[in-house]
Amino acid sequence: MMNDYISMVPQAIGNGTGNASSNQTTDATAGATPSNASLTALLRSTSAKVSDILNKSLNDEDISEQEGLILFDTQGRDLDALIATADKLRENSVGDCGTFVITRNINFTNVCNMGCKFCGFAKRKNEAGAELLSMDEIANRAQEAWDRGATEVCIQGGLHPDLKGDHYRNILKAIKAQVPDMHIHAFSPFEIWYGARKSRMSTADFIQDLIDHGLGSMPGTAAEILDVEIRKKLTKDKLSTEQWIDIITTAHKLGLPTTATIMYGHVDSPKHWVEHIGKIRTIQQQTGGFTEFVPLGFVHYESPLYLSQPDVRPGPTADENIKMHAISRVMLNGWIDNIQASWVKLGPDYASAMLRAGANDIGGTLMNESITRASGGKNGQEIVPADMVKMIEKAGLHAARRNTLYQTIEKFERSATLELVDTVCRQTIPVMEIASSDNALMPRVSGALS
Ligand code: SF4
Repeated sequence: MMNDYISMVPQAIGNGTGNASSNQTTDATAGATPSNASLTALLRSTSAKVSDILNKSLNDEDISEQEGLILFDTQGRDLDALIATADKLRENSVGDCGTFVITRNINFTNVCNMGCKFCGFAKRKNEAGAELLSMDEIANRAQEAWDRGATEVCIQGGLHPDLKGDHYRNILKAIKAQVPDMHIHAFSPFEIWYGARKSRMSTADFIQDLIDHGLGSMPGTAAEILDVEIRKKLTKDKLSTEQWIDIITTAHKLGLPTTATIMYGHVDSPKHWVEHIGKIRTIQQQTGGFTEFVPLGFVHYESPLYLSQPDVRPGPTADENIKMHAISRVMLNGWIDNIQASWVKLGPDYASAMLRAGANDIGGTLMNESITRASGGKNGQEIVPADMVKMIEKAGLHAARRNTLYQTIEKFERSATLELVDTVCRQTIPVMEIASSDNALMPRVSGALS
């Protein structure tokens, strides 16, 4: 029999509809990853079709996209077996450590004319709330992050029509001049495409120039779903599937690591999801440049796509969220070791549960605009390292802080007592509330970081 925690997961989240941003909580603490014997017993009680696929992955064979699609259809015992297998594969790949990074998102502009239909982030230049941070402000935010223990800043922005091509290089120079040891994780493939075009440089030359000025890694955002028809619907195909793959593989060939993402739960379906994960796996087989895979559920609030079209879904169901994390682990087994559960998309409770369904990382801390908060100007929410440790320990894993490239910086002793769910974070923040706060917005809404 599988352990209680794992068997609890699909029941706890499997009946949801819409985003997993609900504050529905789980009341069990995690048990151990299933032993080989208990997993074998569980697989014996599942359908032959599903147990064949899961056994294949446990034997470190790649499963096909078609087999991944079958897994998206699992229910009941088959779904339990999928989750238990993903948990086992996580343990086989990275052990019993759940990780996080201390980072700060600096979204240097929210001005963008690209008009991606799902984007709830972009503003026109003269619209209220439009902003473009100065180089000094960007560097000062990086300095403040460094002073508070961050090892990484994540820099992304809209494609502001007034930006010159060297703006991206100047951001790197400004940060490195002030905080030389900070890892800069910056610029989506869409921004790389835009900056190269503005600079009249080839993508390779543009990326190399950024590397020469301190770029440490790139977010693999703007991937959405790597499918021609779906991308047309979402982005008017302004950055095509081929262009996204070309920019990412160019970065990898230049020695620049990137993450990989998927944004799901809008006008797509499981067929697109497995094809997307398959493409990511193929790239990884060729380059080895991905550090992690991050499933990001579509956030429909404020999304023009959702607001204007009746057939657009309000994000993935809770059931789809857990399958996405588990199947990502199964399909990417042996190729990408790190599957991230984004707590900003899922909420702390769900992110914690995903750590026992294939994920091994919960992403970054949320560093608020502390000066504003300290001056009493506005209430702020913040997730600090201690909160991340609690989220991980609640899943029954050992917590460790990592850097951007998944090197361990510090390990934490297990707390003597696991605290209850409602104290996992200082505040459990509904996604909507985060999305409408005024700090590092972009990860919280479907936009340039998706
Ligand atoms: S997703 Fe990014 S590129 Fe697209 S409109 Fe929003 S900010 Fe611009």
